[in-house]
Amino acid sequence: MMIRWLLPLLLPAAASAALRAGAAVTDITPVEWPVRLIGNFGVTVAPTAHDPLHVRALVLEDGGPPVVIAVIDSCYVKRDVLDEAKQLASTRTGIPASRMLISATHTHSAPPSGAADRRSLEGRYVTRLIEQTAAAIANAHARLAPAAIAYIVRPVPEELFNRRWFMREGSIETNPLGGRADKVKMNPAAGSPDLLHPAGTVDPGFSVVSVQNQEGRPIAVLANYSLHYVGGVPPNQVSADYFGEYARQTASRLAPNDPSFVAILSNGTSGDVNNINFQHPRPRSEPFHRIQSVAFRLAAHTAAMVSTSSHRHSASIQMAETDLELRYRKPTAEQLRFARAAIAEPDAATLPRLAKDYAERAVRLSEGPDTALLKLQALRIGGFAITAIPCETFTEIGLAIKDLSPVKPVFTIELANGHYGYLPTPRHYELGGYETWLGTNVLEPEAAPKITNAVLALLRQVQFNRASAPGRRVQ
Ligand SMILES: [Zn+2]
Repeated sequence: MMIRWLLPLLLPAAASAALRAGAAVTDITPVEWPVRLIGNFGVTVAPTAHDPLHVRALVLEDGGPPVVIAVIDSCYVKRDVLDEAKQLASTRTGIPASRMLISATHTHSAPPSGAADRRSLEGRYVTRLIEQTAAAIANAHARLAPAAIAYIVRPVPEELFNRRWFMREGSIETNPLGGRADKVKMNPAAGSPDLLHPAGTVDPGFSVVSVQNQEGRPIAVLANYSLHYVGGVPPNQVSADYFGEYARQTASRLAPNDPSFVAILSNGTSGDVNNINFQHPRPRSEPFHRIQSVAFRLAAHTAAMVSTSSHRHSASIQMAETDLELRYRKPTAEQLRFARAAIAEPDAATLPRLAKDYAERAVRLSEGPDTALLKLQALRIGGFAITAIPCETFTEIGLAIKDLSPVKPVFTIELANGHYGYLPTPRHYELGGYETWLGTNVLEPEAAPKITNAVLALLRQVQFNRASAPGRRVQ
């Protein structure tokens, strides 16, 4: 009798519980054509898809409430749409919405993920996106089964190039709001004699979370790489970019005959990093060639990383989230005057490039809310952690989190739980360039340090197991 009562007290809650996992994929390729594509200036219309778009979900459980990580093949998805998907998934699974991390990949060849009118073609797509996100989570939840997990990271710097460059004096054109001269240029012409040196760095860390069943059969892979997107897609085709190609190539290497295996590539902190070698330009390649070659490299690394790592059958899971209120940037009186004049100007050729686009953005910001509520998250699974930031986050911010985190290793999923434009550091904000222009950048200049500090505070919350850290409150 005595032993029966004592046993539960001797076992630390959650700390040694067996891990369970489930993964699933749903299709979100448009079914009504043609669709408008976002990700580029100007309207691009696609009458067809080169490759399908998906939602990929992974559910993990340590005996407590499960956690969800889902990644959507979309350029970005706003918070209200993701909150709706979480609510629906929560109703179907009983998992609290606060245990769900949902991000977008940042493919630039997908339809818009928001629409004012849900009865319009674009609105019907949003409804389906929400339905299919909830379905992916519910299906993954229904597949929960005993599992083992491994975390592996290795440097893969070859595909990463910082895209912001210091340029020779006088070679940077006026920015679209006619304001101060930018000190750096985003995506300069590769091989240009005006190039001086990049304004930032890259994060070579390629992270892979491998999940297997009890017999060692692969269930899922969740990878993370800090590369904005690859592109090279013809302008009139839907594509999941290298994120989708990575999923296909990884599946064919790790689980060629198992359609239930799910490979997921989440976007790291890649706001200022792309795949263009500016210093030593590569010859122009066929459409989808770069996508395939980057995916090939990452899938090959993944197969090697998974095959040489040992998987653990238990891992305690902690997750915490917070809402951080930040000020929206507002145009100055001078910028607003310039914007209104640009909108009224009949001849766009007399204005700086993209002036009309940015004028509209500036007016929208001046009329919009004063503050934004950003959902930030930290998640610890055994010995590693994942953080989530709802912005196109500069690489230096991800590196700072990796450096300062109380839980290491850690990686950050960007464009998670919403989208609030680019997140440059204060130094980059001062340097100017595309990612800092009012409209592409919408949050206060101190947003990056505030977000970094809030994420580090969340990491401290999830650092310890509930049982071994009395007094710590973990959501
Ligand atoms: Zn972007």
